[in-house]
Amino acid sequence: MYDSAMTTRKYDLVVIGGGSGGLACAQRATEYGAKVALIESARLGGTCVNVGCVPKKVMWNAAQIAHAAHDAAHYGFDLALRGHDWRVLRESREAYIHRLNGIYERNLASKKIELLRGHGRFIAVGEVRVDDDTLEAPHVVIATGGRPAEPAIPGAELGITSDGFFALEEKPDRVAVVGSGYIAVELAGVFAALGSQVSLVIRHEHVLRHFDSMLGDTLMKIMRDEGTAIETNATPRALERDVDGSLRMLTADGRTLGAFDCVVWAIGRDPMVEGIGLDRAGVKLDDSGHIAVDRFQQTNVGGIYAIGDVTGRALLTPVAIAAGRRLSDRVFGGMTDRHLDYSNIPTVVFSHPPIGTVGLSEQEARDRYGAESLKVYTSGFVPMYHALTSRKPRAEMKLVTVGSELRVVGCHVIGAGADEMLQGFAVAVKMGATKRDFDDTIAIHPTSAEEFVTMR
Ligand SMILES: Cc1cc2nc3c(=O)[nH]c(=O)nc-3n(C[C@H](O)[C@H](O)[C@H](O)COP(=O)(O)OP(=O)(O)OC[C@H]3O[C@@H](n4cnc5c(N)ncnc54)[C@H](O)[C@@H]3O)c2cc1C
Repeated sequence: MYDSAMTTRKYDLVVIGGGSGGLACAQRATEYGAKVALIESARLGGTCVNVGCVPKKVMWNAAQIAHAAHDAAHYGFDLALRGHDWRVLRESREAYIHRLNGIYERNLASKKIELLRGHGRFIAVGEVRVDDDTLEAPHVVIATGGRPAEPAIPGAELGITSDGFFALEEKPDRVAVVGSGYIAVELAGVFAALGSQVSLVIRHEHVLRHFDSMLGDTLMKIMRDEGTAIETNATPRALERDVDGSLRMLTADGRTLGAFDCVVWAIGRDPMVEGIGLDRAGVKLDDSGHIAVDRFQQTNVGGIYAIGDVTGRALLTPVAIAAGRRLSDRVFGGMTDRHLDYSNIPTVVFSHPPIGTVGLSEQEARDRYGAESLKVYTSGFVPMYHALTSRKPRAEMKLVTVGSELRVVGCHVIGAGADEMLQGFAVAVKMGATKRDFDDTIAIHPTSAEEFVTMR
């Protein structure tokens, strides 16, 4: 680690933010011989490692085990499940994350990237201040990510966000998760599987409204079947604490929801753009408050770039990583046209069951290509695993094709195994595969995935 003294130092690249995007960009730049400084004010690895994908997936794994334990009797196991210790899970999870933090730090050291611990902010174009030190570089990357949004309503501070979810030391018995995006349904699913009584509070009628509607509709049915209450058309107006310590939520249309022991706001994320001196460098935001960049991650100021969540496009770790690496390929690796193509980004929602999706939803395809050039294939079934269990969550799949050649422009699945199923199909969609290519691929039997190549 860099020993701080009042200095001015010169680098080829300064990266503000040591999360998914910043780390990837810095490391790729050093591979081309650039002298790089990376500034991080909190734990290395950013949102994904510390309060995002990684701890979330650990919790999802725990929830999967809870479901398997429930199903085990139907497969002949005589298990006596005496409960679940949230604290043990949390401690093991945090120990794992701590190990990852160390690995990230050692990686930086081995690549001779200078790590500066502190808050980075521009004082001018090409000049970044960290505490008392000034770093000068012709190239500066803003990779400051985002933070969970909270509603501007009375009592909002009585609730927690996804950051607070990961800090919970014990399982709350009665939980409201507010939000309809992927983080909301994921956290609701974990709570429900681990035994909390869960209400999912959503503003409209449906969850996951940015995905193909089949996915959200199916998930809502399964969540309800498995005991989650879904409060639709409910916009929180206030959160209040009752005399017994429990929380009550008042909605805009006059309902009172609760009592709850814990309320989680999962209503979106705000970009980290304050306090980083954007005005000193003249960097502009877009209409949504994110840093405006072109397809080369270039801001309106020469030599200043932005990648990842702070740019507000496809808030996903592999997207931040890919944007960071491509930027360094271009700036330091001489690949003049290298940039990230933001189309056909596959993603998984770690709900129960999980969702995998890539490409256009049926509606998006209809809007883009017209209803007449669309052909949609679907398949729905109870996966074989559940033939023996009392739980019967269905799997639903959809292929959206366009044109006479039936090019597959959307591939969507909800069901057990969807999380590991979609990566390969995403390659096919990216390559422009047609329905014929899918049909000509021999099925893998017996799996759920085989339905994708046997649809008629
Ligand atoms: C609950 C949750 C679950 C998620 N699950 C998934 C998932 O399953 N899959 C997936 O792909 N994505 C997931 N994401 C999204 C993913 O975490 C983000 O897209 C990704 O972390 C974005 O990377 P980034 O580099 O843009 O920002 P971040 O990872 O947020 O990193 C930004 C870093 O910059 C630092 N920083 C900010 N300002 C300054 C400053 N002024 N000076 C110094 N340092 C600063 C921050 O401390 C932070 O470490 C999840 C997110 C959440 C919240």
